[in-house]
Amino acid sequence: MIGIVGLGQMGGAMLRRLRAEGQGVQGFDLDPALREAARAAGAIACATPAGVAAPLVILSLPHAGAVGAVLAALLPHMPQGAVIADTSTIEPGQARGFAARCDAAGVAYLDTPVSGGPAGAAAGQLAIMVGGSAAALERARPLLLLLAARIVHVGESGAGQVAKLANNLLVATHLAAAAEALRMADRAGVSPEAILPVINAASGRSAATEVNWPRWISSGSFDSGFTAGLMRKDVRLALALAEEVGAGLSVCGAAAAAWEGSDVPDVAEFNRVAAGIFGG
Ligand code: NAD
Repeated sequence: MIGIVGLGQMGGAMLRRLRAEGQGVQGFDLDPALREAARAAGAIACATPAGVAAPLVILSLPHAGAVGAVLAALLPHMPQGAVIADTSTIEPGQARGFAARCDAAGVAYLDTPVSGGPAGAAAGQLAIMVGGSAAALERARPLLLLLAARIVHVGESGAGQVAKLANNLLVATHLAAAAEALRMADRAGVSPEAILPVINAASGRSAATEVNWPRWISSGSFDSGFTAGLMRKDVRLALALAEEVGAGLSVCGAAAAAWEGSDVPDVAEFNRVAAGIFGG
């Protein structure tokens, strides 16, 4: 039995993937509609976070405050030697604090932030960046592999979150940069549809041009399952980390300002920010 707390875009997709792989799952979310959706997917819907206690519990929560609240309720009920894999994107320092708190309770806490979105979770194709004990990772690895194409043990507690923040700072920067370069080409008479096939066969390509633009922007679908608010959160966490360690971010900082300055609301799909830069 695997426990999941947070059954939103990511946690819900992970739950359905684990069910499709024949795993027993028990889940909790504050939202009763998501608990009902979990039940419909064949999982046990728990009435409290404590109810999900199991040898492996996956967290998929919006911020460190929610992780702390869930751990307070969950830890007293977790079996000794259990592993908590926290796939939420949060501050590396918070992850280190949670690891120490879990350790004191005889439970291993791994920071295991993910890349790949709900589609990657549904297909078992996530990339997982792990910080924490190698032995705990080996205990969790067989089940995490049902969700992931790649699991990389980056280092000690917090290192997975550092990797995730560096990754998403690049996503935010690449998207803003691609939007500006494509706008320049468009105004010079060459549309994104005309130029992307050659950029994607040339050295200027990135996930922004290979994946985001064709899949979610040119198509007009804007249905990646990742919001502008979550991307702004990730960018703010990266800026705070850069400040903490004294690493200047002049290029990425300008991209971060474009995300903050956009009038696309937090609840909207994140690629709309790039579409706004292109059109603006
Ligand atoms: P989401 O808002 O869809 O889901 C979060 C869920 O957590 C919500 O359903 C909410 O009700 C629940 N929740 C909040 N506080 C809770 C609590 N105290 N107890 C129980 N449930 C609680 O968000 P998401 O898109 O699924 O993202 C989840 C995490 O994964 C975030 O940290 C995000 O940054 C990260 N992430 C998201 C994506 C993506 O593409 N959506 C990709 C990689 C990482």
